[in-house]
Parts: sequence; C-alpha cells; structure tokens
Amino acid sequence: MIDISSYDYLRQSASERKPDVAEIRKHFPILERQIEGKPMVYLDNTATSQAPMEVVREIERIYTHSRANVHRGVHTLSQEMTSFQEESRERVREFINADSIEEIVFTRGATESINLVANSFGSFLKEGDEIILTVMEHHANIVPWQLLRDRAGIVIKVVDINSRGELDIENFKSLFTEKTRLASFCHVSNVLGSINPVKEMTSFARSRGVVTLIDGAQAAPHLKIDVKDLDCDFYVFSAHKMYGPSGVGVLYGRKSLLEKMPPWQGGGEMISIVTFPHTTFADLPFKFEAGTPDYIGIAAFSKALEFINDIGLPEIEKHEMTLCRMAEEGLRKIPGIKIYGESPEKGPVISFLLEGAHPYDLGMLLDKQGVEVRTGHHCAMPLMERLGIPGTVRASFAIYNNEEDVARFISATQRAVAILS
Ligand code: PLP
Repeated sequence: MIDISSYDYLRQSASERKPDVAEIRKHFPILERQIEGKPMVYLDNTATSQAPMEVVREIERIYTHSRANVHRGVHTLSQEMTSFQEESRERVREFINADSIEEIVFTRGATESINLVANSFGSFLKEGDEIILTVMEHHANIVPWQLLRDRAGIVIKVVDINSRGELDIENFKSLFTEKTRLASFCHVSNVLGSINPVKEMTSFARSRGVVTLIDGAQAAPHLKIDVKDLDCDFYVFSAHKMYGPSGVGVLYGRKSLLEKMPPWQGGGEMISIVTFPHTTFADLPFKFEAGTPDYIGIAAFSKALEFINDIGLPEIEKHEMTLCRMAEEGLRKIPGIKIYGESPEKGPVISFLLEGAHPYDLGMLLDKQGVEVRTGHHCAMPLMERLGIPGTVRASFAIYNNEEDVARFISATQRAVAILS
C-alpha cells in the first residue's frame, strides 16, 4: 500500500530541484493499469490529468467523516465542511496571487466560469459593442459569446495565427476600436500548445479601457499564475486538469468589476434577504455561487494545489517540456508526420497528423498498444478549419509521465504509421 501520510518525498525532491518521478508515480495507482494487455501510457493530460491518492483520500475522508452542506448550519459537521471549503478558497487565492478571497468564485469548471462572465458582465454590453476572441480558442471561449451575440447583438472579432501557430499580436492590436468592450483569449492553446503573450495583450487592452478574460485552463496546471502581474480582469481554470477532482472550477474576477456585476444564477447561498417583492444579494464571492456547490470536490482541490506547490511549478514545467521536446524530436524522425504548433514558447502539448491518414485511425492503433492520446477537433473546430484539417492526434504530458512513456509513445506511433502507410 502506498504511504501517503506525508509529502516529504516531494519536499525533498523540490529542494533538489528535480522531481522524483518514480516516487510521484506511486501516488497515481491508475498509472499501473493495463490497456489491451499492455501497460498504459497516459498522454491525454490536456483533457484531464489523473488525481494523486492525496486527493482521492481526501474525498474518501470527507465522505466518511465530514459530509454536510456548507454555510447552512450551526452544527459541527456543517461548520467543519464550510471551513474546508473556505480554506480551499484561500489556497486558490494564494496559488494565483489574487488580492482577496472575494475575488475567487467556485464554479463547475472553466466553461461555467466563462458562461458566468458572458452572462453577467455580458449584460452590460449593447448592440454593436465589440469583443475580441482568437482563432485558437476552445469552444468554451467561443460559444458563450455567440449566445450573447444572438441575445444582445454584439460583434465578435477574431485574431489570427501565423504559420507556427502563434497568435498574431499585431492583428490582435489592429482589431481594437472605440466599440471594443472585452478581449477574451487563452493563455495556452489546448491544440497548438502556444503560450500567448498575455501580459502584452492585457496591457494593450487596459490602455484602451478594454476588459480582459484569460482562459487559463491549459496554463494553470503548468505555469505560475499571478493575476496581479498579468493585470487581467478575469482568469478561469478547471481543477480536473490540475490533478484535482472533476466538477470544480475557478473564476478569478477583479473585485471592483465583480461588485458591479449582477448575479448570474439565482437560488440559495447567493442571497442576503428574500421577500416576494424584492431580494438582496450576498456579498462576494457568494453572490455568484447559487445553490449547493461541489464542496467536497472544492475541499479536495486544495490537496491537488498542495501537490503542485510541493513539487514546484517551475520543476513541473521543466520536466514536462523536456518530455514534450523529446517526443517532438522522435515524431519528426517518422516519415509523413506533421506537427501543428511550432512555437518556441509552448506548453507540453503536441498535435500531429500522419499525411493521408485520419487522426482516429492513428489514435485507435495507439490505443491498441496501450497509449492513450486524444484524437479529433479538441473542441476547437474554428482552429481546425483555419488549419484546413479535420482534427489532430494530440499527446500531452504531466508531471508523472517519464522517458519510458515517451519511448513507448514513439515506438507505438512508428508501428501505427507502418500499418497505415
Ligand atoms: N479552455 C481550454 C483552453 C480548454 O482546453 C478546456 C478544456 O479542455 C476548456 C476551456 C474547458 O474546460 P472544462 O471542460 O473543464 O470546463
């Protein structure tokens, strides 16, 4: 049985500045799974990363000892559960260096966080107002704005990319007019891996008085996020891509903006006084948290953040990018393989295709060899259209991946290519 009683092994490795991946892997029993009779290589971390036993045990511990609804009772269990949830909020605040816990709203995920902003902040926008998105956005950062466009008559403008899959920053700047109200863009692309120059983007937007939202779903698991330094108005991410539970997400919002914004959903928790003629709303952040939240998931998320902090984000990023670059090098040696996303500044994601083959066929053949990669449009259909392809095969790395995973991935791809060619 794995001893998860302490994080000592992580602290020790952090001080050596090199994570002990063999030790870390022991905390992820799922990595011992067999697929098609072969040891699994999990390379779909961009979609969801696996959770360490610290997170799993925390969920079990709460279910068996402390489960009770939050903010609702004077009884011990409810008070205890409320403090677990609120401690997690403080941990999230610290993780992204926000000024106050009032700026940390818990949601179901990055998608819900963006929908909240599109509905609440979006209610300030009028017909003819413009917003700026980029062609590399996930559908989560496109469709909520299209729904707003259809309701309110706003105009959506789209920033293009260059041939390396990098955001065209001059194009971004050229799209601003006196009608621009918001720019919403990803920090790291979930397909190309490109890390966008978000500081330059927020700073330009601020100089024009334009509000910014950064979709950090693919950045928060890998890069140190400092919302004050980024000077963004909103920043969103999902726990399940950060070694945490599914069903939990975060919306960071600048307090002065959140205060002005109307509630999005109504119900319990988000109110102060309710009468039939009139209702007043709770203070931040509860104004935006209607109904019972996933309080157990939220509490367990703090264990995932502890896990990340104890290894250290710079060490995580360095390890993942070493594997990613090794894998890219291996793929480039396979005839017929084309990689999409060649930015020198990228996250640990590789999108690729075999000339003349459908991504699903390649993905299926990799699965038969125990290698779990993603295939398809990755919820980025406009980007696929821009690239003129139906989809890609995508391999993505986490802290628990190792060089053997890369070697297995490359040899499985070689075998698949030999079959498909
Ligand atoms: N934004 C980006 C860049 C993503 O990659 C994803 C998920 O893959 C999302 C948003 C949506 O995240 P979720 O489904 O957790 O809400």
